[in-house]
Amino acid sequence: MLSKKLLEEINEQIKYEFYSSHLYLAMASYCYSIDLDGFANFFMVQAEEEKFHAMKFFNFVNEMDETVEIKGLDTPENNYDGIIDIYEKTLEHEKFVTSRIYKLMDIAMEEREHATISFLKWFIDEQVEEESTVKGILQKLKRANGDVSLIYSLDTEMGKRVFTPPTA
Ligand code: MG
Repeated sequence: MLSKKLLEEINEQIKYEFYSSHLYLAMASYCYSIDLDGFANFFMVQAEEEKFHAMKFFNFVNEMDETVEIKGLDTPENNYDGIIDIYEKTLEHEKFVTSRIYKLMDIAMEEREHATISFLKWFIDEQVEEESTVKGILQKLKRANGDVSLIYSLDTEMGKRVFTPPTA
């Protein structure tokens, strides 16, 4: 059993996780358009991860014997100004998602909803990891300072990322 308020916020979160997947797919598409297929792969994997996040919430709501409401998605940004711009916008977006997870946790704590508090802890840790990964890549890109050979070696590195569903 979840309160109406908490259920509504979780339903909103499911929308944001699917939207994140949508956004990262748009970013992957942009990376392909500028011939950075490795970075495109990074965002394809990221898009899969976001779908996994959405489904993790979806399954939790069902386990709590409540009903998920699937909402419509906005059109994400499809035009970007280079690879640094993409990672800056990714970091901005992940910070927004973190604030959403904190909001959910605040409500769950106010309501002393222990099952939800326990469930959300995974997402709190996940957001620390997401922001740290994106910051790290952004730093490397900025240090490369437009050096094409450095950017291509980073692109090769990004091409190696594979989606492995977290077991926790
Ligand atoms: Mg997510």
